[in-house]
Amino acid sequence: MSLIVQKFGGSSVANAERVFNVARIVTETYDKGNDVIVVVSAQGDTTDELIEKAAEINPNPSKREMDMLLATGEQISIALLAMAIEKLGYPVVSLTGPQAGFLTDSSHSKARIRRIEKERMENELGKHNIVIVAGFQGMNRYGNITTLGRGGSDTSAVALAAAFHADLCQIYTDVDGIYTADPRIVPNAQKLEEITYDEMLELASLGANVLHNRSVEMAKKYNVNLEVVSSLEKKPGTKVKEVAKVEKMLIKGVARDNNIARISVVEVPDSPGVAFRLFAALAAKKIDVDNILQSIGREELKDISFTIAKDNLPEAVKVVESLKDSLNYKYYESTENISKVSIVGAGMKSNPGVAAKMFEALGDAGINIQMIFTSEIKITVLINKEESTRAVAAIHDAFMADLPH
Ligand code: ADP
Ligand code: ASP
Ligand code: MG
Repeated sequence: MSLIVQKFGGSSVANAERVFNVARIVTETYDKGNDVIVVVSAQGDTTDELIEKAAEINPNPSKREMDMLLATGEQISIALLAMAIEKLGYPVVSLTGPQAGFLTDSSHSKARIRRIEKERMENELGKHNIVIVAGFQGMNRYGNITTLGRGGSDTSAVALAAAFHADLCQIYTDVDGIYTADPRIVPNAQKLEEITYDEMLELASLGANVLHNRSVEMAKKYNVNLEVVSSLEKKPGTKVKEVAKVEKMLIKGVARDNNIARISVVEVPDSPGVAFRLFAALAAKKIDVDNILQSIGREELKDISFTIAKDNLPEAVKVVESLKDSLNYKYYESTENISKVSIVGAGMKSNPGVAAKMFEALGDAGINIQMIFTSEIKITVLINKEESTRAVAAIHDAFMADLPH
């Protein structure tokens, strides 16, 4: 007998018919003699709708209350799915994140899982119940409800798979696997049979939201047997693992992140400690800074640009404004009209032509590059947001012959 964790995203449980579809997948797995833990997200666009509801009441609510609100979306799904499974005649119990034993730190809206207290779930599994767990949520040590960040149900599922030493963790979603680019923006994107944890971690961190990046991080750490499959069609998905089949290709995929903003602090005195003061102040407000670029100084002055998640822009602007006198910069600029497009692949390490090929594709498409960042297995460019869909397609086309197909 095996233990299988199955996670279903929002679109997979969007309405009654889809909930029954999930109930059937789960009960078929149970019928094969497996123990089954199911993680579900909020139905359809529920989380976005809850965010809008909050904004109608208070544009600046505390993060504690925001988590309290957002956690309700997943709670609706677990109860409805449990009712569907009851109706099919199977033993089932639904549990909220806290009931399932998810203990997190206190960073509301982006909490990290500290540990999972397993007794309750072990009990339920011992009674041969199908256990349905609300994704995306937990509780801090003061008993407050926390959430794990958008897309965090994937991480709930992988955390359970790790804690319970599951034989398999399946992420069911509205696409049938991981592709070389988001198949919704690049129609000729190719499905990957396998991908390594490291490559997927890069893609997810760079905007491929098919998996929450922390879920991949955790899967790698605990060697979770992870796969992405369709909830709507029965066919093989994509396996995420330590070592993928050796395929001769330069890059594994193209990713886009439109959820970012850029701030440039212009004409800062070129003296020691400036960058430290700026980024320490941002860190003190728990604002994650993504890419940083410092221009070469001229006349003892330099510019510092950095990117952050769009949601953090108002707070980051406040921090930068509060440092006007201490940093003695001339002015700052901020923009949300920006997108990050990246290519990822271990194969590029030993291939010097990759960056040139990417820039050529953008140049041919008439797309201007604002900033460039590179590492061993990725190249990232910042461009105007309106051009990002075209950019992804152009880059994908340029590398098409090198992609697995
Ligand atoms: P769920 O609600 O099931 O968690 P998400 O919307 O979070 O689903 O993730 C699935 C979506 O991820 C797909 O619909 C697709 O548009 C997007 N996506 C982005 N990049 C990729 C990629 N490389 N491969 C597959 N899907 C991708
Ligand atoms: N419902 C949450 C979200 O929309 C969590 C998730 O879907 O994984 O972000
Ligand atoms: Mg998701």
